[in-house]
Amino acid sequence: FSAEEEAVLEQIEEQNVDFLRLQFTDILGTVKNVSVPASQAEKAFEEGIYFDGSSIDGFVRIQESDMRLEPDPSTFAVLPWRKTEESAAARLICDVMDTSSGEPFSGDPRGVLKRAIERAEELGYDINAAPEPEFFLFEEDEDGHATTKTNDAGGYFDLAPKDLASDVRRDIIYGLESMGFDIEASHHEVAEGQHEINFTYDDALSTADNVATFRSVVRAIAAEHELHATFMPKPIPRINGSGMHTHISLFQNGENAFHDDDDEFNLSETAKQFTAGILEHAPAITAVTNPTVNSYKRLVPGYEAPVYVAWSDRNRSALIRKPAARVPAASRIEARFPDPSCNPYLAFAALIHAGLDGIEKGLDCPAPVRENIYEFDEAKREEYGIETLPSNLGEAVDALEEDEVVANALGEHVYEKFVEAKRSEFKDYLVDVSQWELDRYLEKF
Ligand code: GLU
Ligand code: MG
Ligand code: MG
Repeated sequence: FSAEEEAVLEQIEEQNVDFLRLQFTDILGTVKNVSVPASQAEKAFEEGIYFDGSSIDGFVRIQESDMRLEPDPSTFAVLPWRKTEESAAARLICDVMDTSSGEPFSGDPRGVLKRAIERAEELGYDINAAPEPEFFLFEEDEDGHATTKTNDAGGYFDLAPKDLASDVRRDIIYGLESMGFDIEASHHEVAEGQHEINFTYDDALSTADNVATFRSVVRAIAAEHELHATFMPKPIPRINGSGMHTHISLFQNGENAFHDDDDEFNLSETAKQFTAGILEHAPAITAVTNPTVNSYKRLVPGYEAPVYVAWSDRNRSALIRKPAARVPAASRIEARFPDPSCNPYLAFAALIHAGLDGIEKGLDCPAPVRENIYEFDEAKREEYGIETLPSNLGEAVDALEEDEVVANALGEHVYEKFVEAKRSEFKDYLVDVSQWELDRYLEKF
């Protein structure tokens, strides 16, 4: 065993771990588990654990269904809500391998992100990422089902007693810390019942792992308080939705390749080209970073979510913002369009490939837009050359189909399954009749 694997085996003994949850995500970003007794740990490291991939969304057909999970020992963590003195459950995040070729399975989202990171490495870059996942806490009804009733009426950075959820948030933070998260801050967000917890940046792969973990921990601990945590992008109409702003920087030989002391915005040419790449491919990326019908209810003017394809060093209506940085190492860009319903592995892969495309092609970055773009009319947007994001999932998938760079970012297998799943989701939505329509028309006509 490697030193890292040895360390995990020791931890299993020390912490009385009796079950190991081997985790990976399907194409839609749902965390999947295969639970094995801790006695299988050595076998899991030596030969992997075999499972039937045909039952996983977007993986494979029945006749080619044998897959193997290879646990990544660096992801070992005891699950805080499953721990007592005598026993504990721990998780390991896994890579999915194709048993017939012995190669990484091309439908594994974690593998898709690894390929994006490798491409960056070939160009000499390490990628750091930090997400800001926002979420709502809702009360449950008598049957334990989620409602959209918030359990507080706090607002941005409000303190108790209005912020009733601060106990829950504290427990969530304890849980996250016990799993190795380094929490930087947490606050009540703008909307009632809405929260944000920020954790330290890390390399892009660890950060994507962290997002998947974060969502499970938040939901599990909220449930202990009889609350339902949701990462649905826009659960309540006409107030702010939940975004997952993603901060990105590229490092080269330990130095921040996004920083330039002499630039007006402290952004290097590399950072600007990377930004230009994301702007160029934004409509197609949206299909991946904002992958649900509901995502597009968030991307409307007036609620601090972006709608227009532009970058800015100050205003929050832009797609990409350059946050103020105290030290050169902190120079970065903030992509403001992703939302927390995305598969983080695929979302980061799409952003990285688009940004690298900007660097490889040496794309020109447009000037920043410092005004509030929500207030621009069409003529002014045209004058500034500002495009609009897709306004629904169908348009986003159309854009994805026309964008080779983003399609290739996903790889053929994931691309095909993803487009198929999203087309069908959108079609299902189109044939539905919403409450809004009934309220508006039923008695009128
Ligand atoms: N909730 C806003 C969004 O949908 C973002 C608010 C903020 O700037 O943190 O993106
Ligand atoms: Mg926020
Ligand atoms: Mg932010």
